[in-house]
Amino acid sequence: MTRFCLTINGQQVETPEYFDVINPATEELAGRAPAGEAAHMEQAINAAAAAFETWSKVDDSVRKEACLAIADVMEAHKEELANLITLEQGKPLGGRGSRFEIQGAVAWTRYTAGLDLPVEVLQDNDAGRVEVHRKPIGVIGSITPWNWPVSIATWHFMPAIRAGNTVVLKPSPNTPLATLRLAELISDVLPAGVLNVVSGLDHLGPILTGHPKVDKITFTGSTPTGRKVMQSASQTLKRLTLELGGNDAGIVLPDVDPADVGPKLLAAAYNNNGQTCACLKRIYVHDDIYDAVCDAMVAASKEIKVGNGLDADSMLGPVQNEAQYNIVIDLVEDAKAQGAKVLVGGTPRDGAGYFYPITLVAEARDGMRIVDEEQFGPCTPIIRYTNLDDVIERANACDVGLGGSVWSNDLDKARAVAAQLECGSVWINKHGALQPNAPFGGIKQSGFGVQFSDAGLREVTTGQTMFVR
Ligand code: NAD
Repeated sequence: MTRFCLTINGQQVETPEYFDVINPATEELAGRAPAGEAAHMEQAINAAAAAFETWSKVDDSVRKEACLAIADVMEAHKEELANLITLEQGKPLGGRGSRFEIQGAVAWTRYTAGLDLPVEVLQDNDAGRVEVHRKPIGVIGSITPWNWPVSIATWHFMPAIRAGNTVVLKPSPNTPLATLRLAELISDVLPAGVLNVVSGLDHLGPILTGHPKVDKITFTGSTPTGRKVMQSASQTLKRLTLELGGNDAGIVLPDVDPADVGPKLLAAAYNNNGQTCACLKRIYVHDDIYDAVCDAMVAASKEIKVGNGLDADSMLGPVQNEAQYNIVIDLVEDAKAQGAKVLVGGTPRDGAGYFYPITLVAEARDGMRIVDEEQFGPCTPIIRYTNLDDVIERANACDVGLGGSVWSNDLDKARAVAAQLECGSVWINKHGALQPNAPFGGIKQSGFGVQFSDAGLREVTTGQTMFVR
């Protein structure tokens, strides 16, 4: 079995203890990850702080070239990394699974490498010149979740490194393997200490978020953990980007063709088997077309094969871990007890693995847990509405605001509805599509700060305003 190591100061470091990483398709061992402890975190933070002294000062072209070299390394090891993701995360190798995840990370890395941080001239006249310069912040602590382990790691560390920061990354204990291997591969093309990866159990997180030498935390994960991160980081006034949970609503207007929209809604809800922050998680459908949309979604669901991600014909894998699997079971059982109607799925699959079928829950209502709570798995409530103003209010009546969508053939009307949704990103006639040139981030308790694009790059810098007489 492959021996995974921490990457600290450009070296591969073994630890006295290792922990098991479970393959969710079989419940067997996917691999053993090094159990980093406080001392490893301390070494990694010190290495990152030392590396910052030089990395922040090298010519910008050197950083750009290093970022492009990282993309080449990822691409050259695409199959190996994709296999690791499938083993530990469960998503299929093909389709919008592991290979797609790595290829996306490569594309994001190349795009980020090409971004610049030009000096902004605010004024240049007889009264003087005013410029804003962007500077790297220092050591960035990155904490990632288990749903898109390599994509999200890349979204964290690439802009940080591009802008001249150094990084200590703590992957999710559920899915550390591909990230550990990626860091090892990247050690060949980055100076020592610029990217350090320390895996371990959850208790490592607070060590990173509270450490005085860490200048900023970029965190992606659940809202309850985000609150803890914010509290811990407050002691040293660290900068924060928090990408937290969502409960994205989609509003389907009565003018759409159900046969056309049904499969698209299903695909938007089942991106990564529902385990994506900006998945469609509450589908509000107008009463006129409610039954026809439900029928179209059920028909589309029958075309999707759920199975072990290593099998070539699997289109969706298992739920990534037992705790999330149990949340899905609870939410569906609660919805049944409250009188909702399960159109398809609704019962866990027998045998090994955290397999739960695509489950579409009709006659779901606001106030049911399956509507009010983020499912983060393969169960989707479909909710009936009649009045547009009322449904907008219901869509907004939650404390998170990551994404939302409107589905209509009348684009003016759709834009007007979209503008009223309280969320950081809103899509029309699609949902959850991210791109590297568009800022992405949540509002309300989905967090703050954005990733991607120039705006995301600026978030890993501080501004210095220079007044010249
Ligand atoms: P989680 O909050 O349980 O864990 C996320 C990370 O935080 C893990 O690495 C974990 O080890 C670490 N952690 C745990 N306790 C910590 C602490 N006290 N201090 C610091 N770090 C700590 O989330 P998860 O279950 O891994 O991921 C699922 C959640 O992530 C969902 O709510 C989902 O919506 C959210 N998510 C959001 C986005 C986004 O961009 N907004 C993207 C992906 C996932």
